[in-house]
Amino acid sequence: MPKTEPGGLRRDTILTHAGRHPDENRGFVNPPVYHASTILFPSMAFALGEEVPEGKVYRYGRLGTPTSESFEEAVAAIEGAAGVVSVSSGLAAITLTMTTFLKAGDHVLVTDSAYRPTRNFGNQVLSRYGISVEYYDPAIGAGIADLIRDTTRVIYLESPGSMTFEVQDVPAITEVARRNGILTMIDNTWATPYFLRPFDLGVDISIHAGTKYFVGHSDAMIGAISCASREHYDRIKAEQGLFGQCAGPDDLYLAQRGMRTMSVRLKQHQEAGLMIADWLQGREEVDHVRHPGLPGAPGHDLWTRDFTGATGLFSFVLKDYPKAAVAEMMDHMDLFGMGASWGGYESLILPGRPDKIRTATTWPHKGFTVRLHIGLEDPADLIDDLSRGFDRLRAAVG
Ligand SMILES: *Cc1c(COP(=O)(O)O)cnc(C)c1O
Repeated sequence: MPKTEPGGLRRDTILTHAGRHPDENRGFVNPPVYHASTILFPSMAFALGEEVPEGKVYRYGRLGTPTSESFEEAVAAIEGAAGVVSVSSGLAAITLTMTTFLKAGDHVLVTDSAYRPTRNFGNQVLSRYGISVEYYDPAIGAGIADLIRDTTRVIYLESPGSMTFEVQDVPAITEVARRNGILTMIDNTWATPYFLRPFDLGVDISIHAGTKYFVGHSDAMIGAISCASREHYDRIKAEQGLFGQCAGPDDLYLAQRGMRTMSVRLKQHQEAGLMIADWLQGREEVDHVRHPGLPGAPGHDLWTRDFTGATGLFSFVLKDYPKAAVAEMMDHMDLFGMGASWGGYESLILPGRPDKIRTATTWPHKGFTVRLHIGLEDPADLIDDLSRGFDRLRAAVG
C-alpha cells in the first residue's frame, strides 16, 4: 500500500492517532475537555505582557485551549495543513476566512454552485462593506482568467457544489489564481480531507463544516479552516481573535472524537450512496442522477482524476412533476428525515429549486432537485422507502 501522506503514516492511522496525547494525560486515551473562560496568570509581568513563560501558554478560553488544539491538530494532520483554526460553525469558518483576506474595493469570484448561506454572506454582508462579489460558472476551469480584474483578491470554490454537485476543475483554477497572485479557498465539506487533498491541487485554504462528517452524529456544530501556509494561518488566527470567534469545548471534543471513526463511516456512506444512486438511475420518475462517483454522471471524470472517494451526499432531478405530487413523496417518508445539514449516521431528503438561486448560469432542468444524504441504515431499507415514495408520487399524478 502506498504511503499517501508526507509524514509517512497512512490516512486511517492519522485519523486514529492525531491530536491525542495520552502520555500527557495520565494515559487516558481521549483528550480531556477543558471548559474555560478564565485561565489564571502566573505573574503580574505575564498579565502586562512583559513576560512570556517557556512552553505552551494559554491566556483566555476564547483564544485557544488544549481541547481546541486537539481538534485542530487532528484536522491539520489529515489534511496536511500548516495550521488549522477552529470556529463555532462551518458558516463561521467561511465568513471569517473571507473577512480576513478581503477589504473595501476588492473583488471576489464565487462559484455559482456555492452553499446558499455563503452566497447570502457575499450578497448581504461583503457587498455592504464595499466588496464586489461576482459569481462564476462552476464549469469555467481555466476560463476564470477572463473574469480576473486588478482588484480580484480571492477565488472561492466548492467542489462538488451543494445541491447540484458540479465538480470543479480545481487545478486549472488554482493555476490561474497563482499566476495572478490571487488567493484560493475551497469549501471541502463534502469530500473531507479523507477523499480530497486540496493543497495538492494548489488551493491555499480549505474550509470545513465539521458539523457534517467530522462530528458524524448530528449533535454538534463546528467549523475548521485549514491553511497550506503558516502565514495564512497566522492571519486567520489573528482575525479570529479580533472577531471573538471560538468553538465550544464539548463541540470540539465531539468533532475530534467523531474523526476517529470517520474512515469507516465514510466508506459505508460511499458504498450505500453509490448503490442507491445506481438504483435511482433506473427509475422512470428520475430525469438524471447527480452523484460525482457514478459513471456517466456530471463531473465524474474530474472526480475520478482528483478525488479518492465519494461521501453519502448527492442529488437527483425528478421529471417535471407538479409540486403537490412531489410533496406526496417527500412528506411521508418513513426512514428519510427532511432537514438541513447532513453527515450524520441517518438518512435525509431535501427538495430544492436551484433555478431560483443561480445568477451566473441557468439551471435548465424543470423538475424538482432532490438531495439525499445516505446514512448508515441498510441500503435495501432505504431503497424500499424511496420506492414507496415513488409509488405515492405516481399515484398523485394519476
Ligand atoms: C452545512 C454546510 C456549511 C455550513 O456549516 P454549518 O456548520 O452548518 O454552519 C458550509 N458548507 C457546506 C457545503 C455545508 O453543507
